[in-house]
Amino acid sequence: MNNIKNNLSIIHNRMIKACEIANRNKDEVRLLLATKTVAPNYINFALQQGETLIGENKVQELKQKCNSVKKMNPEVHFIGHLQSNKINEVIKWVSCIESIDRLSIAQKLQKRLAIENKEIDILIQVNTSFEESKFGVAPNEAIELIKNIATLKNIHIKGLMTIGLLSSKSNEIRKCFQLLKKIQNEVKSLNIPNVEMNELSMGMSNDLEIAIEKGATIIRVGTAIFGDRIYPDSYYWNETVESK
Ligand SMILES: *Cc1c(COP(=O)(O)O)cnc(C)c1O
Repeated sequence: MNNIKNNLSIIHNRMIKACEIANRNKDEVRLLLATKTVAPNYINFALQQGETLIGENKVQELKQKCNSVKKMNPEVHFIGHLQSNKINEVIKWVSCIESIDRLSIAQKLQKRLAIENKEIDILIQVNTSFEESKFGVAPNEAIELIKNIATLKNIHIKGLMTIGLLSSKSNEIRKCFQLLKKIQNEVKSLNIPNVEMNELSMGMSNDLEIAIEKGATIIRVGTAIFGDRIYPDSYYWNETVESK
């Protein structure tokens, strides 16, 4: 637990420093705790340190953990690949789905939200690294997707999300985040009804500084707070390992 406390302070210091360098106000960037595989007592400990935002990748884990963390009243986002048969469950637990990347899933989501008379915030996940294995709409199809989803009235688009290239080359990573920023600006200039473009969710344990430099408003950090996971990220990110 001491590690978590220490790690959180390291992350906040990194965020503050990155904001200073980028000439941004530190309140413009929120820390989302990426809590996949992390047990509720550790999540609760982090929340007791003053954190307010968590993100889960799997519906199974949402179900298992949300009751145990809800007395701390965190804001919960879904950051994993959403399958249509899991929609009913996801909307019980989260206020924002950061990983909407195709019209078909948004339409199914809309249908269910209408039945339940609920509304939800979403981000559009964009595949800025052009890796075939990664989820996310292709950058050149993002605007068309946003225009279409904007017509679904129980769904509110708040911005964009991406996973940068997993690489040690900061310039390659920077290109990903720059591309997300560019799409954000393009969408903003179109003034599409029912679309707000204020949120950019990008940057993780290893690349949060670059993301903040390029305009991130949410960074999603797991490993640097909770330590290494037993599953590889491919278990969470790759199309091929996800059963449809
Ligand atoms: C796991 C995960 C993160 C956090 O990654 P770390 O490298 O552990 O900080 C961020 N975003 C998504 C979508 C994730 O699945």
